[in-house]
Amino acid sequence: MLNRLLKLFAPGKQQHKMTSPKIIPVSEHGLRRAQFSSNALKVIEKLQEAGFSAFLVGGGVRDLLLEGEPKDFDVATNATPEETRKIFRNAMIIGRRFRIVHVRFGREIIEVTTFRAHHDQSDNPKDAEQSHTGMLLRDNVYGDIESDAVRRDFSVNALYYDPSNGNLLDYTNGLADLNRRVLQMIGDPEARYREDPVRMLRAVRFAAKLGFTMTENTREPIKRLAPLMSHVPPARLFEEVLKLMLSGYATATLGLLREHGLFEALFPGTELCLQKGGEITNKFVTQATLNTDKRIRQDKKVTPAFIYAAFLWPPLQAAIRKLMQENKMPLTAAMQHAEQGVISQQLSCTALPKRFLIPMKEIWALQLRLLRREGRKAFALLEHPRFRAAYDFLLLREQAGENLDGLGLWWTRFQDADEAQREEMVKELGNPQRQRRPRRRKPKAANSTTPPATS
Ligand code: ATP
Ligand code: MG
Repeated sequence: MLNRLLKLFAPGKQQHKMTSPKIIPVSEHGLRRAQFSSNALKVIEKLQEAGFSAFLVGGGVRDLLLEGEPKDFDVATNATPEETRKIFRNAMIIGRRFRIVHVRFGREIIEVTTFRAHHDQSDNPKDAEQSHTGMLLRDNVYGDIESDAVRRDFSVNALYYDPSNGNLLDYTNGLADLNRRVLQMIGDPEARYREDPVRMLRAVRFAAKLGFTMTENTREPIKRLAPLMSHVPPARLFEEVLKLMLSGYATATLGLLREHGLFEALFPGTELCLQKGGEITNKFVTQATLNTDKRIRQDKKVTPAFIYAAFLWPPLQAAIRKLMQENKMPLTAAMQHAEQGVISQQLSCTALPKRFLIPMKEIWALQLRLLRREGRKAFALLEHPRFRAAYDFLLLREQAGENLDGLGLWWTRFQDADEAQREEMVKELGNPQRQRRPRRRKPKAANSTTPPATS
């Protein structure tokens, strides 16, 4: 009964009426044409010349208003993907769940999105499809600019800039929210998260990146709805992990993800270790994000293989310890078994393409090899393509408080040394066969990130 009553008041095809946007002139918002990518402006001009309307929208407009540096520029238009593709020689339609057009200019890609509408504007399952939990499996119902604005996620992401007259169109009170530095989900937050649980990750990502506060109704449902993340395909979640962790705000993002119960959905093994683990585990994971953020600030290369190697290291070590203690497995066998278990659990949450999976495993394997430096071993290791990453990983373990008897410093000195000094350093290690102490029987403290036999 209640449902039927609610349906009577739900927006339907007939009830869609135009509301006029707030039109904000240049004198009030201060954005200038020259701040936008010239390729994005070209795309808009061409669409407008062909008789379509087209605007800059999303992160590009938001970040420029905040005096930040946009990552990319998104264009919204009333031209369909097919119509858009016909206008540009360098264009490609991509996506199935959400079809968009990529217009390529060398290394820059301008994403052109057709205005979307609510699903009750279409009965065609090829355009609109939802799962039993309300998740949008296909979101290709096209509409007008106003319906497009309310289908976007946060009000600050729904500001449309028209470069032909410099006006900013605001249907969702986005500019006021931007000035108040708040993140407000458009519409009913719970319903919007159910439609697309990735919006919860986006909320956290923008809050961390922009330093914005989520409004209470945007924040409140997240913890409750976090389990819905399990319905999102692992490949899409991998893409989101990259944006969350490799955009320069990984530390703040990690804190917010954990606070909102979302980290568990992405890295369940890691979250468990963080909850159970001691100080070193927590320091290790945080240090991994701090180092990643620092590298990005320094314009150094960052790879998903490293951050995955770091996040999965605590569960890997826990699994190895368990296999060695409870099943009496030797280290190498325990490591192989543990790797398989940890990786397969992870792949059921987020994908990790082979090109990152292999280097991740190499970083782990090299942690053992970095201990064995006698003879020509240290020299050979320097030539290994993954040496640098493995060495950084070793330093990270030490930074987190693991006692590795100065192994990191040894490798630092070894790299800086000339050939003769290197020979000397290896000689100084002596003969490990003779020096080896009897194997310890007592397992190492659970607080360590390393299994007993590797330290
Ligand atoms: P950035 O590019 O800096 O990560 P962005 O806001 O531009 O941030 P994009 O993923 O490029 O994010 O998306 C462009 C715009 O498309 C967003 O600003 C938002 O308006 C809309 N959008 C993207 N993803 C969603 C989503 N899952 N649900 C609703 N709207 C979305
Ligand atoms: Mg963008």
